[in-house]
Amino acid sequence: MARVSRVRGYVEEMKKKGVLRKIDEAIFLKQGVVFIACADSNRFWDWYCHMVSLVDNPKLVHTISDNGGALQIVLDPVRRIKILQSAEKALIAKGFRKVVILSHLFCLIAKEESIIPDKAIGMTVEAAAIALDYFNLNPLLKGKVEVFPHYHIDYGDDLALANGEKLMETYSVNEFSEYNLELPELSDQKGCIAFTNP
Ligand SMILES: [Zn+2]
Repeated sequence: MARVSRVRGYVEEMKKKGVLRKIDEAIFLKQGVVFIACADSNRFWDWYCHMVSLVDNPKLVHTISDNGGALQIVLDPVRRIKILQSAEKALIAKGFRKVVILSHLFCLIAKEESIIPDKAIGMTVEAAAIALDYFNLNPLLKGKVEVFPHYHIDYGDDLALANGEKLMETYSVNEFSEYNLELPELSDQKGCIAFTNP
Protein backbone atom coordinates (compact mmCIF):
# COMPACT_ATOMS: atom_id res chain seq x y z
CA MET A 1 0.00 0.00 0.00
CA ALA A 2 3.03 2.28 0.29
CA ARG A 3 3.01 3.01 -3.39
CA VAL A 4 -0.71 3.68 -3.34
CA SER A 5 -0.39 6.32 -0.64
CA ARG A 6 2.65 7.85 -2.35
CA VAL A 7 0.70 8.19 -5.59
CA ARG A 8 -2.36 9.50 -3.75
CA GLY A 9 -0.18 12.10 -2.01
CA TYR A 10 1.26 13.14 -5.34
CA VAL A 11 -2.18 13.47 -6.94
CA GLU A 12 -3.46 15.54 -4.02
CA GLU A 13 -0.44 17.83 -4.33
CA MET A 14 -0.96 18.28 -8.06
CA LYS A 15 -4.66 18.99 -7.51
CA LYS A 16 -3.80 21.57 -4.87
CA LYS A 17 -1.43 23.27 -7.28
CA GLY A 18 -4.19 23.30 -9.88
CA VAL A 19 -2.20 21.20 -12.32
CA LEU A 20 -4.63 18.27 -12.25
CA ARG A 21 -8.31 19.06 -12.30
CA LYS A 22 -11.60 17.29 -12.44
CA ILE A 23 -12.70 16.98 -16.03
CA ASP A 24 -15.52 19.28 -17.04
CA GLU A 25 -17.93 16.67 -18.31
CA ALA A 26 -20.25 19.18 -19.92
CA ILE A 27 -17.57 20.02 -22.49
CA PHE A 28 -17.67 16.52 -23.94
CA LEU A 29 -21.29 15.44 -23.63
CA LYS A 30 -22.63 14.34 -27.04
CA GLN A 31 -19.50 15.71 -28.72
CA GLY A 32 -17.36 13.71 -31.15
CA VAL A 33 -13.82 13.26 -29.89
CA VAL A 34 -10.62 12.07 -31.51
CA PHE A 35 -8.92 10.26 -28.64
CA ILE A 36 -5.14 9.82 -28.73
CA ALA A 37 -4.14 7.39 -25.99
CA CYS A 38 -1.61 4.78 -24.94
CA ALA A 39 -2.28 1.20 -26.08
CA ASP A 40 -1.54 -0.33 -22.64
CA SER A 41 -3.47 -3.62 -22.43
CA ASN A 42 -3.85 -3.37 -18.65
CA ARG A 43 -5.44 0.06 -18.62
CA PHE A 44 -6.85 0.78 -22.06
CA TRP A 45 -10.39 -0.30 -21.11
CA ASP A 46 -10.45 2.20 -18.27
CA TRP A 47 -9.62 5.34 -20.21
CA TYR A 48 -11.60 4.23 -23.26
CA CYS A 49 -14.75 3.51 -21.20
CA HIS A 50 -14.24 6.78 -19.37
CA MET A 51 -14.07 8.69 -22.65
CA VAL A 52 -17.19 6.92 -23.92
CA SER A 53 -19.02 7.81 -20.71
CA LEU A 54 -18.00 11.47 -21.10
CA VAL A 55 -19.51 11.72 -24.57
CA ASP A 56 -22.30 9.25 -23.76
CA ASN A 57 -22.00 7.37 -27.06
CA PRO A 58 -19.25 4.95 -28.22
CA LYS A 59 -19.73 6.06 -31.82
CA LEU A 60 -18.48 9.51 -30.87
CA VAL A 61 -15.03 8.29 -29.76
CA HIS A 62 -12.47 7.82 -32.54
CA THR A 63 -9.37 6.28 -30.97
CA ILE A 64 -5.79 6.54 -32.19
CA SER A 65 -3.56 4.42 -30.03
CA ASP A 66 0.18 3.88 -29.73
CA ASN A 67 2.54 2.99 -26.90
CA GLY A 68 2.87 6.06 -24.71
CA GLY A 69 -0.02 8.00 -26.26
CA ALA A 70 0.70 11.70 -25.79
CA LEU A 71 4.35 11.04 -24.95
CA GLN A 72 5.09 9.80 -28.47
CA ILE A 73 3.99 13.12 -29.96
CA VAL A 74 6.85 14.77 -28.08
CA LEU A 75 9.40 11.95 -28.14
CA ASP A 76 9.30 10.62 -31.68
CA PRO A 77 8.97 12.89 -34.75
CA VAL A 78 8.06 9.97 -37.03
CA ARG A 79 5.29 8.70 -34.76
CA ARG A 80 4.18 12.29 -34.11
CA ILE A 81 3.41 12.94 -37.75
CA LYS A 82 1.66 9.57 -38.19
CA ILE A 83 -0.52 10.11 -35.13
CA LEU A 84 -1.39 13.69 -36.05
CA GLN A 85 -2.11 12.84 -39.68
CA SER A 86 -4.49 10.08 -38.53
CA ALA A 87 -6.16 12.50 -36.13
CA GLU A 88 -6.45 15.16 -38.83
CA LYS A 89 -8.11 12.70 -41.23
CA ALA A 90 -10.55 11.59 -38.56
CA LEU A 91 -11.45 15.17 -37.61
CA ILE A 92 -12.29 16.00 -41.20
CA ALA A 93 -14.03 12.72 -42.09
CA LYS A 94 -16.12 12.59 -38.94
CA GLY A 95 -16.73 16.28 -38.50
CA PHE A 96 -15.40 16.04 -34.94
CA ARG A 97 -13.76 19.14 -33.48
CA LYS A 98 -12.47 17.98 -30.11
CA VAL A 99 -9.24 16.08 -29.46
CA VAL A 100 -8.21 14.48 -26.18
CA ILE A 101 -4.53 13.60 -25.76
CA LEU A 102 -3.80 11.27 -22.87
CA SER A 103 -0.77 9.92 -21.07
CA HIS A 104 -0.72 7.93 -17.87
CA LEU A 105 0.97 6.82 -14.72
CA PHE A 106 2.39 4.15 -14.84
CA CYS A 107 3.41 3.84 -18.47
CA LEU A 108 5.91 1.52 -20.12
CA ILE A 109 7.24 4.30 -22.35
CA ALA A 110 7.67 6.64 -19.39
CA LYS A 111 9.65 3.93 -17.65
CA GLU A 112 11.84 3.26 -20.69
CA GLU A 113 12.58 6.94 -21.12
CA SER A 114 12.94 7.61 -17.37
CA ILE A 115 10.15 10.17 -17.47
CA ILE A 116 8.94 11.09 -13.99
CA PRO A 117 5.24 11.97 -13.51
CA ASP A 118 5.69 15.76 -13.58
CA LYS A 119 7.63 15.50 -16.77
CA ALA A 120 4.94 13.24 -18.29
CA ILE A 121 2.24 15.75 -17.35
CA GLY A 122 4.30 18.57 -18.87
CA MET A 123 4.88 16.52 -22.02
CA THR A 124 1.14 15.88 -22.31
CA VAL A 125 0.51 19.62 -22.27
CA GLU A 126 3.31 20.09 -24.79
CA ALA A 127 1.81 17.36 -27.01
CA ALA A 128 -1.55 19.16 -26.94
CA ALA A 129 0.11 22.42 -28.00
CA ILE A 130 2.00 20.67 -30.82
CA ALA A 131 -1.23 19.02 -31.99
CA LEU A 132 -3.17 22.28 -31.96
CA ASP A 133 -0.47 24.00 -34.03
CA TYR A 134 -0.56 21.10 -36.48
CA PHE A 135 -4.35 21.14 -36.92
CA ASN A 136 -4.32 24.90 -37.38
CA LEU A 137 -2.14 24.44 -40.47
CA ASN A 138 -5.12 22.86 -42.22
CA PRO A 139 -7.51 25.55 -43.57
CA LEU A 140 -10.47 23.23 -42.95
CA LEU A 141 -9.62 22.97 -39.27
CA LYS A 142 -7.93 26.28 -38.49
CA GLY A 143 -9.37 27.85 -35.35
CA LYS A 144 -12.06 25.19 -35.03
CA VAL A 145 -10.33 22.41 -33.09
CA GLU A 146 -9.93 22.20 -29.31
CA VAL A 147 -7.25 19.97 -27.83
CA PHE A 148 -7.45 18.71 -24.23
CA PRO A 149 -4.53 17.15 -22.34
CA HIS A 150 -5.64 14.41 -19.94
CA TYR A 151 -3.64 12.37 -17.45
CA HIS A 152 -4.76 8.96 -16.22
CA ILE A 153 -3.57 7.65 -12.89
CA ASP A 154 -3.89 4.18 -11.46
CA TYR A 155 -2.99 3.21 -7.97
CA GLY A 156 -2.12 -0.39 -8.66
CA ASP A 157 -4.13 -3.56 -8.63
CA ASP A 158 -3.42 -4.14 -4.95
CA LEU A 159 -5.73 -1.33 -3.87
CA ALA A 160 -8.68 -2.61 -1.91
CA LEU A 161 -11.84 -1.08 -3.33
CA ALA A 162 -13.77 -1.85 -0.16
CA ASN A 163 -12.71 1.51 1.24
CA GLY A 164 -14.69 3.24 -1.48
CA GLU A 165 -11.68 4.80 -3.16
CA LYS A 166 -11.30 4.60 -6.89
CA LEU A 167 -8.77 2.27 -8.40
CA MET A 168 -8.10 4.61 -11.30
CA GLU A 169 -9.04 8.09 -12.36
CA THR A 170 -8.50 10.40 -15.31
CA TYR A 171 -7.82 14.08 -14.82
CA SER A 172 -7.83 17.09 -17.01
CA VAL A 173 -4.46 18.83 -17.04
CA ASN A 174 -5.35 22.43 -16.34
CA GLU A 175 -7.42 24.35 -18.87
CA PHE A 176 -7.04 23.22 -22.45
CA SER A 177 -6.40 26.72 -23.67
CA GLU A 178 -3.77 27.70 -21.14
CA TYR A 179 -1.15 25.02 -21.73
CA ASN A 180 0.04 25.76 -18.26
CA LEU A 181 3.61 26.91 -18.31
CA GLU A 182 3.81 26.93 -14.56
CA LEU A 183 4.06 23.23 -14.10
CA PRO A 184 6.56 22.44 -11.35
CA GLU A 185 10.19 22.36 -12.39
CA LEU A 186 11.87 18.99 -12.42
CA SER A 187 14.25 20.19 -9.73
CA ASP A 188 11.19 20.59 -7.53
CA GLN A 189 10.44 16.88 -7.66
CA LYS A 190 11.77 15.25 -4.60
CA GLY A 191 9.23 12.51 -3.93
CA CYS A 192 8.44 11.80 -7.55
CA ILE A 193 11.79 10.35 -8.43
CA ALA A 194 10.84 7.39 -6.25
CA PHE A 195 7.99 6.44 -8.55
CA THR A 196 8.77 3.34 -10.52
CA ASN A 197 6.68 1.21 -12.77
CA PRO A 198 5.41 -2.06 -11.38
ZN1 LIG B 1 1.38 3.61 -21.48
